[in-house]
Amino acid sequence: MKSKFYHGSDSINTKHHWAVGTIWSVDGSKNNVYSVEMADRGFNCDCPAFKKCKHIKSIEEGFCDE
Ligand SMILES: [Zn+2]
Repeated sequence: MKSKFYHGSDSINTKHHWAVGTIWSVDGSKNNVYSVEMADRGFNCDCPAFKKCKHIKSIEEGFCDE
C-alpha cells in the first residue's frame, strides 16, 4: 500500500474541518474517476499527479463558493 501525500490548502483551513474524512469522486480524463479525500493535513487524490492536481482544486473551489 503506497503512502498518501496530503496537499495543504491555501484557501481552506482543513484542520478540524467538518469535511475531514469526506471522500469525493471526481471525474478525470479518459473516463477515470479519482477519489479526493480531505484530512487534517490537507487533500489527497489517488490520481498519478504528485503536485496538487485539478481534482483537488475542483473540490477547493467548491468550498470557496460558501
Ligand atoms: Zn487528482
